Amino acid sequence: MKLLVTGGAGFIGSAVVRLAVAQGHRVINLDALTYAACLENVASVAGDPLYTFEQADIRDRTAVDRIFATHAPDAVMHLAAESHVDRSIDGPADFIETNITGTFNMLEAARAFWATAGKPADFRFHHISTDEVFGSLGPTGQFTEATPYAPNSPYSASKAASDHLVRAWAETYGLPVLLSNCSNNYGPYHFPEKLIPVVIINALAGRPIPVYGQGKNVRDWLYVEDHADALLTVLRTGTPGRSYNIGGENEVRNIDLVHMICAHLDSMRPAARPHANLITHVTDRPGHDARYAIDPARIRTELGWRPSVTLEQGLERTVRWYLDNEAWWRALLSRNGVGTRLGNTA
Ligand code: NAD
Repeated sequence: MKLLVTGGAGFIGSAVVRLAVAQGHRVINLDALTYAACLENVASVAGDPLYTFEQADIRDRTAVDRIFATHAPDAVMHLAAESHVDRSIDGPADFIETNITGTFNMLEAARAFWATAGKPADFRFHHISTDEVFGSLGPTGQFTEATPYAPNSPYSASKAASDHLVRAWAETYGLPVLLSNCSNNYGPYHFPEKLIPVVIINALAGRPIPVYGQGKNVRDWLYVEDHADALLTVLRTGTPGRSYNIGGENEVRNIDLVHMICAHLDSMRPAARPHANLITHVTDRPGHDARYAIDPARIRTELGWRPSVTLEQGLERTVRWYLDNEAWWRALLSRNGVGTRLGNTA
């Protein structure tokens, strides 16, 4: 297949690009290269004849149309987005423009291209979304594909809006769409403003490890390379018009996750005192969702997909990767806002 991947210089998009090329697909990576992007994430495929990079902004319809016309993709995997909840609290405008208007542009450009090509039935527009659109769970229950939307942050509201657009473009125009809603990802190339890299980097520096509130919020963590594999499975075998929840089957409280990371660091990079001594509770994020959990039944039974690594295995690999790739994350620490507390202006 020839895949147009948006956001392929980001954390998850780059994992999709690397795996798709490894599977023999041609990949066109469309990315605006915002603060969250890093072309080193795709350096391993940069010289591959299967890979092409197009720097473009999904808010620029003319540029997106040109890329469709130039490359004539068989499918779109749309990951480009503003993705950090804390930044969405301080500055929601970029989230509305990229996540909603940008997705609208992608859908319209895809629809125009698909119509010009004679509406091929095997064309796909795969929209990659988050479980955060479903809001917050109590101590029990899981999100299914039928769970009503109840987003609580500007980020999740903007993703929810984009999901609705995708659904409407399928119902109204017949565009063959796929939608997937995934839980929290972690792994190599995770941008150093997100929880897991922040914990590793602060622990290595001997600085306080910030934990929002009491750290009792529960997340269902998925190793990023498993997510990339799930996304390509959905693309290949999913039913158009259908949505798929993707989870890690790894629910854990933030505070317990931080302790797990500290234990890995204690064994791989011992310090004078246990790294967990650095844990510091800080003011909670406004509107912080208590718990997310994915019911993975549909993707497991219909597509035969499940994650390949446990949280313990994935965390060990991740901590090892950050230890081995210090130059990668050090270069990103000077980017706008990284290393400072964001998201407390509400
Ligand atoms: P990321 O922030 O690491 O990467 C986003 C990429 O999109 C960057 O390379 C950036 O340059 C690009 N981008 C941003 N605005 C753009 C624009 N206007 N035009 C073109 N490119 C633009 O994000 P991520 O964590 O890799 O997430 C990718 C997708 O997966 C997002 O849609 C996100 O909502 C979704 N998702 C993320 C998670 C998670 O845990 N990180 C979980 C579920 C779903």
